[in-house]
Amino acid sequence: MRTRAILLVFSCLIMAVNFEETPSRPMFNWYRWMRERKETKRTSNESSLSQLRNFGIKVRFEKIGSPPIEAETKDVCYSEECIESANRIWDSMDLSVDPCSDFFQFACGGYMKKNPVTSKLPDHQKFQMDSTLINVYKKLHVILEDDSKHPFLRRARRNYSRCVGKDEPSKCLRDLLANKNFEWFLGVAYARDYPQTDKINKTKIMLETVKTEVKTLVENSMWMDRESIENSVEKVDDVRTVIGYDPVTLTDHRKPRVNGLKAFMKPLRNNPFYVTHYNAMCLPVASMNSPVLNLGLDALEYGAMGTIIGHEFAHCIHYYDHGKGGLWNTIWSDGTISRFNFMKDCFVNQYAEEFRNFFTGRRDEVGKIDGRKTVAENIADLVGLQAAYRAFKRLNVTNRMLMGLITDYCPEQLFFLGMANARCTSESVGFTEDFILDWSHVHSPWRFRVNVPLKNFKAFAEAWNCPSGSEMNPIKNGSRCTLY
Ligand SMILES: [Zn+2]
Repeated sequence: MRTRAILLVFSCLIMAVNFEETPSRPMFNWYRWMRERKETKRTSNESSLSQLRNFGIKVRFEKIGSPPIEAETKDVCYSEECIESANRIWDSMDLSVDPCSDFFQFACGGYMKKNPVTSKLPDHQKFQMDSTLINVYKKLHVILEDDSKHPFLRRARRNYSRCVGKDEPSKCLRDLLANKNFEWFLGVAYARDYPQTDKINKTKIMLETVKTEVKTLVENSMWMDRESIENSVEKVDDVRTVIGYDPVTLTDHRKPRVNGLKAFMKPLRNNPFYVTHYNAMCLPVASMNSPVLNLGLDALEYGAMGTIIGHEFAHCIHYYDHGKGGLWNTIWSDGTISRFNFMKDCFVNQYAEEFRNFFTGRRDEVGKIDGRKTVAENIADLVGLQAAYRAFKRLNVTNRMLMGLITDYCPEQLFFLGMANARCTSESVGFTEDFILDWSHVHSPWRFRVNVPLKNFKAFAEAWNCPSGSEMNPIKNGSRCTLY
């Protein structure tokens, strides 16, 4: 069997401890205000402004995208990135939904309405995070149309130029990228023409801060013994990272012949991933765009990208390690492993229950639902969320807000909005049900990946003032699962 086939790759994203720090809370009924505000959103600036003033808020609210018109007491972000984030988050929300009953629907209901799906392929699913590639594809068109650079693109350019005219350039580009060699070469050209060192450096800093918090979570663990903790922290410290792209591609365009870590690191891949075999994490440059990065505010970026980084680190915390001799070594004691398995069952049962509650029809298939196949990813989602939130809380965050967006959202609320917004998905109920039943899927559908970790994370309920016993702030025994 080729090595590649046995490598475990956990791709993509983001679990729960009671986080002690209490976020600052809005002092007025923002929920009511937002609902009213949305109703008048596009009618007139005047009415919105007067409405704001009626609520005693000293801020301007003009058409999103226009420059500030009056001085104000709060620090509002007017950068291009902030305006883009505000527009996207605002358009994605459904304010008729209570964030404490279904946060995913609250943050993404507008997105679902604007992106309806049919049950037919290829329109079976629309995913906000896919838009990270819009920016990348624009640049690839520029690269393909400039014959003066990158001679290794000659064949790709020829195929591309034969196609454009008959088909849409975007379709021609997709066809081109389906060819693995062309995909690699275009990725190399992309990294060379757009090295994006600012984004990469920003991601490196975020990675270090999230990593510190992952280690703290493990160090504070109540169920792991000292040796298991020390081995796990060491493993986290040893994680190899490739951030952006492999720098070798800047001088050597050839595709690695040997199946190794470098072959995984295609610059155009847009999903971050962890490779168990190498204890390595890759965060490709193509993923470093909105709605994941370049969002204008730390709160949003830690919510979106920070939780993804935390998720990938969480995959590293496991009872085995792939040692230097190429052997799989157990690095946890038997006692720690059995306590882990016991705690893991909470997640298995919780997700199975969530899935069963989602099934409205097809009652005959409910018996097939199993929470085991997705448990590793579900735990990683919660650990990633906790670590990213802790890292974000350690920042010296000023009370910055997004222009035009719910001006009283505190940074903690923006963190959770950033987290959910990047994960907005539109798919049919049938698609979600099939996804739950299909044994090949190790991830839970996105609505569960947003809501369930948030339910398990008390800091969420605190940030949104969710009443005890509400759907997103459960109090029943066994209704919350946590590891660290
Ligand atoms: Zn994963």
